[in-house]
Amino acid sequence: MKITSLTAWQVDLPLREGRYAWSNGNFVEVFDATVIAIATDAGLTGHGECCPLGAAYLPAYPAGVRAGLALLAPALIGLDPTNLGEINRRMDATLKGHAYAKAPIDIACWDILGQASGLPLSTLLGGRAQEEIVLYRAISQESPAQMAEKVAGYRAEGYRRFQLKVGGDADEDIARIHACRAVLDAGETLVADANTGWTRAEAARVVAAVGALDVHIEQPCASYEACVSIRRRTARPFVLDEVITDAASLLRALADDAMDIINLKISKVGGLSKARLIRDLCIEAAIPMTIEDTWGGDIVTATIAHLAQSTPDEFCFSATDFNSYGTRTIAEGAPRRRNGRMVAPTLPGLGVRPLVETFGAPVLRVGG
Ligand code: MG
Repeated sequence: MKITSLTAWQVDLPLREGRYAWSNGNFVEVFDATVIAIATDAGLTGHGECCPLGAAYLPAYPAGVRAGLALLAPALIGLDPTNLGEINRRMDATLKGHAYAKAPIDIACWDILGQASGLPLSTLLGGRAQEEIVLYRAISQESPAQMAEKVAGYRAEGYRRFQLKVGGDADEDIARIHACRAVLDAGETLVADANTGWTRAEAARVVAAVGALDVHIEQPCASYEACVSIRRRTARPFVLDEVITDAASLLRALADDAMDIINLKISKVGGLSKARLIRDLCIEAAIPMTIEDTWGGDIVTATIAHLAQSTPDEFCFSATDFNSYGTRTIAEGAPRRRNGRMVAPTLPGLGVRPLVETFGAPVLRVGG
C-alpha cells in the first residue's frame, strides 16, 4: 500500500462556554483545528486532527500545524502508511522537532493500519484494558465562586474529576482551590493546574496553604527545575504536563522522582506511536496518566479514547472528551460522554467518519 495524497482542512471549533481561560491571562474563544486525510492506492483513507491550545500555551500554534504539514507531505507520498516506524523516521528526518505537526500524520496512518487490519486502534495499541474511560472536566479560570459553581454543575452531569485552571494571583488561587474542594465529596478528584503560571515563591505559598486539602498540584512553574523544587516542598500528589514532551524528558523526570502523574497529550509528543511508548514506560514506572491532547474535536476525542481504552484503569488517571466542550460536530461515530465516562469506537481504525463535506475548501493538497 502506498500513500497517494494528503489533504488538510482548517476547521473552527467554537466553545460551548464561550471562552476558555488559563494562567497568565491567556484565553481562547474559537479553537483553530486542522483535519487531514491521507489517501492510499488501496482505496483506504485515514484521518487525523491537531488543535493547539492557541499560540501561547506550548511551542505550537495552529498555522504551524499547516506549515509543518506542507513541508512533510511531499516526503510521505509513496510510503507505506502501515509502516509506522518508517513514516515517523521519514518525518523526523524531514523536519526537526515540531512534534505537533507530525501528530495528525501519524494518527491518520494508524487509522489506515486499523482499517487495513479490520481492527479498532484500541486493539492495535495493546487491547481493551478497561470498560469505560473516566473523564475529567477542565474548569476555566474565573472567580472562586464562579469556578465552584461550574464544578457543581459539571458534577451534576456525572463528572467526578476536575481540573482547575489556576496559575493566577496566588491568594485568589488558594481561594479557588478551597471553594472548589468544598463542593466535592471524598473520592472525587481535584487537580489545581497552574499551567506554569506561578513563580517559585507563589507556588510555595499555594502548596503550603492547601497542604491539608485533598488536591493534586499540576505544573506549578515554567521550568522543570522549579517544578521539582516545589515537588520537594509538598506531600500532595504532583503532576507534570508542559515539561514532559518526549520519552527523554520522561526518563529524566522518572530518574529524579519528579512527579506522581503525567499529563500525556498525544499531539505534544508527536502522535500515537510516541504516545504509546510514553504510556508503556509510565505503566512500567507505576505513573498514572491523564490521556488527552492540547485541544480538539471529535477526531482528537476518538484518538484519545483508543489510547485510554487500551490503558489499565489504575494507570488512566483521567482522559478528556474535548468534543463536549465545543458546539460543532466534525465527525460521526466519535465517543459521546455518558455519566462522566466515554468508550472508544469499535469500528476498524479510529472508527469515525469526518464530515469533510462541511469543512469548505481544503487549505492544502499534496499528491493526486
Ligand atoms: Mg495541564
